[in-house]
Amino acid sequence: MTQKTVGYVELEWMCTYCDTRNPGTHKKCASCGAMMGEADQFEAPVQQELITDEAKLARAKRGRPDIHCPYCGTRNPAEAEKCKHCGGDLAEAVAREKGRVVGAYRDGPVPDVPCPYCGTPNPANAVKCKKCGGVLQKPAETPPAKTPLAEPAAAPKPRSRIPVLAIGAVVVLLSICAVAYFALGLRTTDTPAIVQSVMWERSIEIMEERPTTYEDWEDQIPTGALIGSCSKEYRRTQSEPAPGAEEVCGTPYTVDQGDGTGKVVQDCEYRIYDNRCEYTVNEWTVVDEAVAQGSDLNPQWPNVSLWSDQREGGRAEEYVVTFRADDREETYTYYVDSADEFSRFDMGSYWTLKVTALGDVTGAEPAR
Ligand SMILES: [Zn+2]
Ligand SMILES: [Zn+2]
Ligand SMILES: [Zn+2]
Repeated sequence: MTQKTVGYVELEWMCTYCDTRNPGTHKKCASCGAMMGEADQFEAPVQQELITDEAKLARAKRGRPDIHCPYCGTRNPAEAEKCKHCGGDLAEAVAREKGRVVGAYRDGPVPDVPCPYCGTPNPANAVKCKKCGGVLQKPAETPPAKTPLAEPAAAPKPRSRIPVLAIGAVVVLLSICAVAYFALGLRTTDTPAIVQSVMWERSIEIMEERPTTYEDWEDQIPTGALIGSCSKEYRRTQSEPAPGAEEVCGTPYTVDQGDGTGKVVQDCEYRIYDNRCEYTVNEWTVVDEAVAQGSDLNPQWPNVSLWSDQREGGRAEEYVVTFRADDREETYTYYVDSADEFSRFDMGSYWTLKVTALGDVTGAEPAR
């Protein structure tokens, strides 16, 4: 998040002896003459106006918190060496707190406040009634506007228990099925059988360079690709400004600088939009397949005739042996991994099969 400075405002402090509100840069109460104490806090005035006076603004921009005299407590400017009240050495003086958020910045006009003694409307920042001189209280704070960048997350909706129970039941059922499957699949029975038929199939992919279209951010497109149509799309949000980025800022708020002024700041993010483009590259693509099949024990690779712009792709082979049970009308299918193993299954030869309860053949040994 980047913090942008909107400007500077004068804060105010309330005298603990007579409840008079005083401008932040004043160190002495205008009504009773009491000094602002170390424990007295600066507050945001009801009506906030950005400082335009050049000298005041230059001072606010320095933002050096005032210091309190260790002997008499008087507030002195940061650069003072001797207390202007008691003349004490300020080398050991403690600086005021800096950086506290005093509230949202409100720059709109604030309605006048009626005097509690005579009813005369007075500006919201006025300390004393312009007619009777009575001390005016600070009007009640209006709640700060919601910051668009800090929307509270929506409360999670209470979920119905029924779907949860249903999902639970399905999970339990699936687990039972999985356990049963493994139990049935692992235990095998020795079954005598005769080779009834054999089948092999071998295939070779035929590939050709074909234009293939994809989509990506412009700076991610491989070199040599043919770039098609592009459009600006939202890519990411970053904290630093960037050319062409969309600035999204939260509500301005005021931070106590410790010198009677407040810095009005705004937290901003930057939405980056980039070109997203279609592009075309030539890619080797499977366009055909040459296949050879047979029902003997001599598997062959198919003859492949290629054009000049074609090449061979991947190869695949499959060997299947069908057995008939020695004593029953049942048949079993056995998938063999290699041509070497496949060549052992002579037609009519006798074998002992390992058969699972589900009827899958997991192994075959020549019968003795
Ligand atoms: Zn006072
Ligand atoms: Zn002092
Ligand atoms: Zn009055």
